[in-house]
Amino acid sequence: MPRGKYWNEELETLPRGRLEELQLRQLKEELAHAYAGSPYYKRAWDAAGVSVGDIRELSDLERFPFINKLTQRETQGVGSFLGELAAVPEEDVVFISTSSGSTGVPTMSPFTKQDFDEFQDVESRWFWQAGMRPNDRYVHALNFSLYVGGPDVIGAQNLGALCVWGGTLPSERLLFVLKQYQPTCIWTSPSYAFYLGETALKTGIDPRKDLSINKIFVAGEMGGSIEATRKAIVDIWGAELFDFYGLSDIFGACAAQCEYHDGLHIAEDHILVETLDLKTDRALPPGERGELVYTTLRKKARPMIRFRTGDIGRFVPEKCPCGRTHGRIYVDGRKDDMFIVSAVNVYPSDIEYVIRSLPEVTNEYSVRIYESKFTTRYDVTVENAGLSGCGSDSRVSEIVTNALKARIGVRPSNVVVLPDGAMERSTHKAKRVIDERKVTYEI
Ligand SMILES: [Zn+2]
Repeated sequence: MPRGKYWNEELETLPRGRLEELQLRQLKEELAHAYAGSPYYKRAWDAAGVSVGDIRELSDLERFPFINKLTQRETQGVGSFLGELAAVPEEDVVFISTSSGSTGVPTMSPFTKQDFDEFQDVESRWFWQAGMRPNDRYVHALNFSLYVGGPDVIGAQNLGALCVWGGTLPSERLLFVLKQYQPTCIWTSPSYAFYLGETALKTGIDPRKDLSINKIFVAGEMGGSIEATRKAIVDIWGAELFDFYGLSDIFGACAAQCEYHDGLHIAEDHILVETLDLKTDRALPPGERGELVYTTLRKKARPMIRFRTGDIGRFVPEKCPCGRTHGRIYVDGRKDDMFIVSAVNVYPSDIEYVIRSLPEVTNEYSVRIYESKFTTRYDVTVENAGLSGCGSDSRVSEIVTNALKARIGVRPSNVVVLPDGAMERSTHKAKRVIDERKVTYEI
């Protein structure tokens, strides 16, 4: 079947009412499957006095208990290799990915063959949405080791693109691939996209002139949706940037930008989105900012029912000018990363926004959160870009302090200014926030 603008036109443009009917039907099936197969859900729902029969409309899901990362950690390996959240026997599972474990014990995410094939069909949908076509050459420059983003390359391959399984090649090898094979599309993290572009320029390769990359997909960090970061990457590459968003717990990419770059379409035929009020845990109306909670609608190996992602953002169900009816998410940051200074909620993504928009500093920065006299404070470290006319470090420090105060509402206690090149360039997921506080604050 020839495809036009959409990978799956009927599904992607389903009118809202019909999309929600589909979700409701799938939700009932998913809950029945989870209850029948997963010892954890059976126990938790019996204890909460809820059952699949309670679901008459989508909002009835609000009666069901949440799960989170801790639920995964506490149930994995319990009773069986796959653990108590899994709803199928191990013999039905064909693939597992493992989270990086950067926030604790790594968690394992299992897929049946059907789960895996549908995961890749969703990836094809995102690549197609971003304009990838069978005549494109694509370099998948994401980690293949254990990481759920690794297999996403199969989505591009199924679409018909010529795929190069780049993985985490050293930069000079990757630049060789880009020069030699002249691929048109690449996927990396935003910080690495920028670093790779800078490295290319330093080695005499101008990405705009000497390479053929016209689309860059990024995921894993906030930068892809932060305007100044986007601009820095786009300027260096002369390519269109598409932000993708994935969760090891569900898919490599659950959501992705279309050509309008206004929020990320989420695969609503696979994922039901709720937004929770940060104080009350009650579901908020669409469009309001809170914690994003996802329920899988089709995953068989390990259904995720009301999974609290820890991501703070908004969900907007209105139809997009691109014609797609699946809603869009806007992710502002991680709940874990958010900190409170003088009663103001500070998101590291807001700090990044400020830093990346100032020509006086480079794109590298770090944030240190600490306590002093029982008060939370934050310091920011930046690099002086050596701009003529405002060279002194104290002047740069003042500019950064004032810009942060204006955007965020609270000034940093210190701005440390280092020379250009003094901070380590991250090649993958950049760790920019260092939290030295002893106490974990509840939001
Ligand atoms: Zn759109």
